[in-house]
Amino acid sequence: MSNCIFCKIVRGEIPCRKVYEDEELFAFHDIHPVAPVHFMLIPKLHIESLSETNDSHAKLLGNILLQASKLAKEQGLHSGFRTVINTGKGGGQEVFHLHIHIIGGGNIPPMVRRE
Ligand code: 5GP
Ligand code: ZN
Repeated sequence: MSNCIFCKIVRGEIPCRKVYEDEELFAFHDIHPVAPVHFMLIPKLHIESLSETNDSHAKLLGNILLQASKLAKEQGLHSGFRTVINTGKGGGQEVFHLHIHIIGGGNIPPMVRRE
């Protein structure tokens, strides 16, 4: 996708702090981190969101989760980490290229506050 920010990052047209790259995946630090460690893992293939995946993406989706865990450990998140996939406008997605946020290293509050 010519206009997609994350496709441009994969192609090297927009600079990033790269964490990892292989044939199908790419990882880079978030430009606005919400914790001491906050990076994104994405497929190189332009898929708009998790809602746009189908059976043909099963292997890719498995690989991306396995890689998320490996990279989290490599980034020092041995006591745990949060993975977030925002999907669609209703899910707060801002960049419409499927990505997993991997977040950790600080005080990670509960996702849902129970008052
Ligand atoms: P979303 O809200 O779509 O799940 O997350 C998009 C994320 O991409 C945000 O956390 C935002 O900070 C990050 N982001 C947006 N543009 C850029 C960019 O040009 N470079 C990097 N490294 N991160 C970006
Ligand atoms: Zn893209």
